[in-house]
Amino acid sequence: MQVWKFGGTSVGKPERMHSIRQLITSTNTRKIVVLSALSGTTNALIAIGESAKANQDDEAIQRIKDLKDHYDTFIKELYQTEAGLAKGQAIVDKEFSFIRSLANIKPFTSKQDKELVAEGELLSTQMFEAYLEEQGENSILLPALEFMRIDADGEPELGAIEEKLTTILGQHPGKQLVITQGFICRNPRGEVDNLKRGGSDYTASLIGGAIRAEEIQIWTDIDGMHNNDPRIVKRTFPIRELTFEEAAELAYFGAKILHPSTITPAKMRGVPVRLKNTMQPDAPGTLIATTTSDREIKAIAAKDNITAIYIHSTRMLNAHGFLRRVFEIFEKYKTPVDMITTSEVSVSVTIDNDTHLDAITAELREIADIEEHDRDQTIVCVVGNFSADKEGVAIKVLDALKHIPLRMISYGASEHNLSILIHSRYKAEALNALNERLFYYEDAMKDIFTAP
Ligand code: ADP
Ligand code: ASP
Ligand code: MG
Repeated sequence: MQVWKFGGTSVGKPERMHSIRQLITSTNTRKIVVLSALSGTTNALIAIGESAKANQDDEAIQRIKDLKDHYDTFIKELYQTEAGLAKGQAIVDKEFSFIRSLANIKPFTSKQDKELVAEGELLSTQMFEAYLEEQGENSILLPALEFMRIDADGEPELGAIEEKLTTILGQHPGKQLVITQGFICRNPRGEVDNLKRGGSDYTASLIGGAIRAEEIQIWTDIDGMHNNDPRIVKRTFPIRELTFEEAAELAYFGAKILHPSTITPAKMRGVPVRLKNTMQPDAPGTLIATTTSDREIKAIAAKDNITAIYIHSTRMLNAHGFLRRVFEIFEKYKTPVDMITTSEVSVSVTIDNDTHLDAITAELREIADIEEHDRDQTIVCVVGNFSADKEGVAIKVLDALKHIPLRMISYGASEHNLSILIHSRYKAEALNALNERLFYYEDAMKDIFTAP
């Protein structure tokens, strides 16, 4: 069995849904098909929630109307029969009347907000399943809210997901295509919740891991993981192969093509992940698996909105128990630390979730001197297989960034990550400079030396 996930742009137009049907029926393998919301929908639902929360009822009503108009038009092109269209219209009318009633609830709390954003995936999957039925495909819609669970910390419960999913799938052995929602889940209180923005990738990997799928395919609008952020850097190219570790680092450190946690369940169960382009299905994409290919530097990613915290020990840093006490404070506030550097008397760390920054700072001040935090920082992360050529990688990276002030450097924790902290204003310059130096320098040198 395989798991295929289609993102927002891949389902964002009626003709794209038609192409997806062609794609998923072009091979005989049984598939679980995970769909995101239509592109733009989750943002629109979040905006409706903001209006509702601010008691701006007219604005909420207008936003709901605009979104519904989009769906009314969409289904006219999606379905090919009167009966199909009637079914599609009934789905849209039912979900939008629910959206309207949610937006009317006062006070509008985060419970309603989460139910509201879940509507994107509930709409896309029901509409697509009705289309498959109209076309006579052997498919079934399996509600993610029946099996996708997170715990009190927002972490998916793989064991429970596996148990529920296996039972439910066993009840429909003859169904070749099983459609389900990405992103949405239930929390321990039984309420509707989600796996955070971009979470449909994570759903696909959790399902793939849970059922020990043969392969997980993430279908999106680009031909695989590129060596650098194509939104910022001009000359980027797709990487054909990545190890689980390399892909996990890139996703965690900001490569938007994958939700930051996507790789974990797939890696845990050894399920390969293939990144494919819905608009160019024949392009090879990227295969993420246990194997390594030889290229030493694979890709660069960047993660924004980072805060750096500088902690000076009032005594020597290696004084017994000091670091333990520092990290206990971060643990207490469930705030993950991304980068760490140390000297004899100081330790610097970075965090991307500053919800508890004030409380953390206050507690750190009880055991250390805390300098002013640096906000608006970016972690630039170079990923690859560096074991063969350690000196070479660091020299090339530092050479590329010689004109940019570097706040922190982290290297050696693993053999596939070198991270640098810079102010976000240097991000584009840093990504472009690294791109030229790490991926095009040798070619440029060759041209110079072979020039007449
Ligand atoms: P989907 O809606 O299918 O989940 P996303 O927009 O979440 O798609 O992710 C795909 C986008 O990720 C691409 O269009 C590209 O702009 C962006 N992206 C950022 N970094 C990378 C990278 N290193 N490789 C490929 N795409 C990237
Ligand atoms: N629809 C959700 C979002 O926009 C989940 C996803 O697309 O992966 O974040
Ligand atoms: Mg995405």
